[in-house]
Amino acid sequence: MDYSGDFIALDRAGLVALVEEFLSEKRAQHVFRVEETAIELAEKYGESAEKASIAALAHDLCKEMPDDKAMDVIIRENLDLELLEYGNNIWHGPVAAVYLENELSVTDEDILNAVRNHTVGAPKMSLLEQIIFVADYIEPGRNFPGVDEARQLAADNLTKVIDFATYHTLMHLLEKKVKIYPGTIDTYNAWSVEKGS
Ligand code: GDP
Ligand code: FE
Ligand code: FE
Repeated sequence: MDYSGDFIALDRAGLVALVEEFLSEKRAQHVFRVEETAIELAEKYGESAEKASIAALAHDLCKEMPDDKAMDVIIRENLDLELLEYGNNIWHGPVAAVYLENELSVTDEDILNAVRNHTVGAPKMSLLEQIIFVADYIEPGRNFPGVDEARQLAADNLTKVIDFATYHTLMHLLEKKVKIYPGTIDTYNAWSVEKGS
């Protein structure tokens, strides 16, 4: 895909090269499958395929950043300090959004929010945010119980997939008895209880 130059200071090949530089082979392959899925959803639901490609390729860019470096970013950039109590699983989205803004000249809030919120979600999510959240959950390499049902739901309603994903992820986290990030509860309340938008 040719990028317009309106959203990021790299062409697609440059962004792919960054993914390959920053991430293990296995995780890079996950990222490429998320991109494929996100472009399909963008075409189906009427979102920009270019923005879907950029947000998808960038979403896990900081997933393998050393904790001390990520913690420096959180402090220096005045992100929510509560992130520090949770670890990489929770902060890699917000940290990647900072990287895109500072290093790759991304200013589009929709792309930044899609990357920032891809793990925890948010009570209100734009179409692009929903697409990245869902594509990350259903990409063809995912094989957890329930993923086929989620894929079927994605064929006609993103809201239902977000309800499904939020509920099942929270259930899974509770079963593992790990610390729940408050934003995860906010997303659950909005999308699984109040059936958000
Ligand atoms: P990935 O980066 O493609 O592996 O996927 P995500 O960014 O969606 O999720 C990263 C990890 O964070 C997953 O293992 C989730 O289960 C986990 N996670 C999501 N919400 C929470 C939370 O509130 N608390 C904790 N401890 N982990 C969470
Ligand atoms: Fe992630
Ligand atoms: Fe991911």
